Amino acid sequence: MTEPTRMTPLLERNEQFARTYTPVPLGLPNAQVVVLTCLDHRVDPAIVLGLRLGDAPVIRNAGGRVTEAVINDLAYLAFLAERVLGADGQLFEVAVIHHTQCGTGFLADPAFRRDAAAATGVPEAMLEACEVSDPQATVKADVEKLLASPLISPKVSVSGYVYDIESGRVVP
Ligand SMILES: [Zn+2]
Repeated sequence: MTEPTRMTPLLERNEQFARTYTPVPLGLPNAQVVVLTCLDHRVDPAIVLGLRLGDAPVIRNAGGRVTEAVINDLAYLAFLAERVLGADGQLFEVAVIHHTQCGTGFLADPAFRRDAAAATGVPEAMLEACEVSDPQATVKADVEKLLASPLISPKVSVSGYVYDIESGRVVP
C-alpha cells in the first residue's frame, strides 16, 4: 500500500479508464492535425476540441509559443509521418492556439519579467519569448514564424486560432 498523494484520485480515474480501454495502433493520427497550445489547465485541447485518443498529437508549453524545441518536434513529426507512416501529399496541419487571460501575460511587464528571471534562473529573453498578452498578435507572429522556418516541410500547413476563456470558442 503506497501513501496517498495528490496523484491518488487521478490514478483511481486511470483505473476506471483502463477498464474499458482499447489500444490505438501506431499510425497516422485521425485528424491529421497537430495542436500547439498553452499548458494552461483551462485550455485542454482534448476537451475544448473534443479530441479522442488517436486523433491528434498535442504540443504544449507556456503560452503555446513557437520555440526552437517546438520546431524540432514538428520537423520530426513530419519526417515520421512521411517516412514511417506513409503519408503522402499534405502531411498535417499545425493549429497554433493561443488564449485570452494567459498567465504568461504578466511577462509583458518588464519589472515582473526581471523578478521572474531572478527568481527562476530562466533568462529574461526566454521569458519574454513565451509572453502572450495579445493572443491575436502572438498567434499571427507564431504562424508566420512556422511558415518561415526552413525546418518545416512545405507539406505541412499552418493555421492560427485564439481560444476565448470566457466564451469557450476557438476563433480563427
Ligand atoms: Zn496560457
